[in-house]
Amino acid sequence: MALNKKSVDDINVKGRRVLVRCDFNVPLKNGEITDDTRIVAALPTIKKLIKDGGKVILCSHLGKVKNGPNEGESLAPVAKRLSEKLGKDVKFISDYNVTGATATGAVEAMKEGDVILLQNTRFRGKEETKPQEAGDTFAKELADLADDYVCDAFGSAHRAHASVAGVTKFITEKGGTNAVGYLMQKEIDFLGNAVENPVRPFVAILGGAKVADKLNVINNLLEKCDTLIIGGGMAFTFLKAQGYEVGKSLVDDTKLDYCKEMLEKAKEKGKQILLPVDTVVAAGFPDPIDNPDIKTRIVDSTAIPSDMEGLDIGTKTRELYADAVKTAKTVVWNGPMGVFENPVLAEGTKAVAKALAETEATTIIGGGDSAAAVNQLGFADKMSHISTGGGASLEFLEGKELPGVVAADDK
Ligand code: AMP
Repeated sequence: MALNKKSVDDINVKGRRVLVRCDFNVPLKNGEITDDTRIVAALPTIKKLIKDGGKVILCSHLGKVKNGPNEGESLAPVAKRLSEKLGKDVKFISDYNVTGATATGAVEAMKEGDVILLQNTRFRGKEETKPQEAGDTFAKELADLADDYVCDAFGSAHRAHASVAGVTKFITEKGGTNAVGYLMQKEIDFLGNAVENPVRPFVAILGGAKVADKLNVINNLLEKCDTLIIGGGMAFTFLKAQGYEVGKSLVDDTKLDYCKEMLEKAKEKGKQILLPVDTVVAAGFPDPIDNPDIKTRIVDSTAIPSDMEGLDIGTKTRELYADAVKTAKTVVWNGPMGVFENPVLAEGTKAVAKALAETEATTIIGGGDSAAAVNQLGFADKMSHISTGGGASLEFLEGKELPGVVAADDK
């Protein structure tokens, strides 16, 4: 799918102030960045704008900022890491107001090729407000700092927030351009091609906790893929919908009819839905979640004891799913096959990750937990693409348009 939006290759930023919305929502532990994948992913766009002589003003959110601005969710560690990665000074504007006099002063002093990073956009509660409400004030203040805008925050592109979409209206009003960055382009090319124009057979693998979170993804992917593999907690609602006992496993009784409908739809369309044929069970959910002393056994998925809980796919299922991956030409994966946070219950997720690492097929990991699992297992460089956005890639797989993409100017 060609993206018909202006990109950083279509704009001339020499001497111009460019506001770039990045996704620097990195994990932090005691003020240290524990995974800088998202910073690294943002570098190509930033380097391009520096090379072209732009004045590069970066912004991003970090964390949920539930209790107002605080140093624990400041972007200061990101500015430091970014300086190291770029090999040049990134001036950090620590003002909790994000925009305002300090930011304006720093921007005025910028020379071509300079880079500054604004404070966490969520420090301004208005970031998340609808544009027609107070969000517009913040969006306009951001736009006032710049001449042009580049959205490269795929991980936030499904949110119509001030710094993601709201800002574009004001950039347009002042005659500037709204473009997408290289990361956005890459994400959309991979995910878009996989879903809209896949080399077949196309196998989609869905896991994770709840069916309810993935209703539209299941529905949309059944239209597009050849085989849909289901694992994780969501498999049990499908198994129960087929009339099987699932014991104490995670089930959403309100979605039984939906699962029946999907099984029916697959049959009608000649698509295959693969469900676990065997399941790793235990007496209950591990407490704490990573407790390695949990006692498990493997049972047929059609014979889960009523006092047991299913927590991972069994060995036969791992083989079945790996075989399906082997014959695929395109594979998209979102969501773990079991409670992978626990070493004893991570084997199913590992087996699927390994199968993807070994196949020649185009492999796309839809962010979130599956991306973390692939990274942890050291398979990252064996995948064709690992999305930087869990929620955004899911919405993409649902076939929805992302506000951050829609807001960019057409070519
Ligand atoms: P999600 O956020 O929907 O991708 O779900 C990820 C979560 O699903 C992880 O925290 C897993 O521990 C959890 N999960 C996976 N399999 C199961 C299962 N069989 N029972 C309960 N939770 C599960």
